[in-house]
Amino acid sequence: YNYGLPLSSPPSPNKKQPDGQRISVCVRKRPLTHAECRRGESDVVTTPSGECVTVHESKEAVDLTQYILQHRFYFDHVFGEESSNEEVYRKTAYPLVQHMLNGGKATCFAYGQTGAGKTHTMLGSSPGVRPGLYALAVRDIFAQLSTMRTHSSLLVYVSFFEIYCGQLYDLLDHRKRLFAREDGQKVVHIAGLRHVRVDSVSSLLEVISQGTEERTQGMSGVNPLSSRSHALLQIQLRGPNQQIAGRMWFVDLAGSERASDTKEPDRQSRMEGAEINQSLLALKECIRSLDQEQSHTPFRQSKLTQVLKDSFIGDSMTCMIANISPCHLATEHTLNTLRYADRVKELRGQGGLRGGRKSKTIPSPKRNLSNGNTSRGGS
Ligand code: ADP
Ligand code: MG
Repeated sequence: YNYGLPLSSPPSPNKKQPDGQRISVCVRKRPLTHAECRRGESDVVTTPSGECVTVHESKEAVDLTQYILQHRFYFDHVFGEESSNEEVYRKTAYPLVQHMLNGGKATCFAYGQTGAGKTHTMLGSSPGVRPGLYALAVRDIFAQLSTMRTHSSLLVYVSFFEIYCGQLYDLLDHRKRLFAREDGQKVVHIAGLRHVRVDSVSSLLEVISQGTEERTQGMSGVNPLSSRSHALLQIQLRGPNQQIAGRMWFVDLAGSERASDTKEPDRQSRMEGAEINQSLLALKECIRSLDQEQSHTPFRQSKLTQVLKDSFIGDSMTCMIANISPCHLATEHTLNTLRYADRVKELRGQGGLRGGRKSKTIPSPKRNLSNGNTSRGGS
């Protein structure tokens, strides 16, 4: 069942991204929500091209005049508010799915502040109607398994768990506590993790919706749990003897704003924030190390990177989607997200992206924010 959407084209023979990159870093801007439009929120993010994103930050000078700082960033792909999940999928996870079908390992991350669109990207909004990357990937996996004769005996298994405060909980097994261990070969195993076989997109969505329910019911607190934990969906292809013939992770990361929450009133919140900070820093370093001939990758610095260890070695492919909000009030978090993503891609190749286009900040004279934007907000 493919939701009436056309299938993506068949697998390409080359294993890596078209330009040979193992890491791609993309940005997705979400539209202003209806509530934000009603509040008169202004939109401070523009996407002048498919590779560029600009944030207009309003600043006050010493003499109290206003000026605008234009922060410009370049990425492999920049998706504006008009981009659909299908379009995002095609340029982000699709090459990873092909790599997985060729027997490789791949990992796709959704990074960003709470409310920036991570879950919309991964799970979709009303998933059966507007599917996200999970369902689109599985749709293509089933379609291609059925057409590739060499792959006809492969089965698809999923597991779904979360990492909260450095601890693992199985979302497909009543939030059972799980433990990750390294064996003698330094391979990380998650003991007792439940793997569920799926045979269609709808059975995947059913499994995920069970898991998501566990996730939201799991705990109560000031912030929703989804902003405080990482959710990891693993898709495995297995051969007749249960041997793994391809593996892919989708990671819906904890809200990145929590990493800077050092002023939280209670101890639990501060601890959560510190843990998230640690894991996001370790993640950045581990992804960066994929592209360097680095002998030491700091897997052990967080549970997240330890569990994903396999993703940072060998011929793994990684894609990070940095989700951002268009809102004026979110400017600081948006800039933090873009700077984080910029750092992830920074060491790649000859010091930058395609021809070394560097992100930069340009001061410009005072102007009305709402005039310079292409989007519907702010006027
Ligand atoms: P996060 O998971 O990062 O906290 P969500 O995915 O829950 O954020 O998105 C917050 C809100 O914005 C939701 O109501 C969601 O439906 C909406 N939203 C996010 N991205 C988009 C998009 N690209 N198009 C339309 N609505 C979006
Ligand atoms: Mg979410």
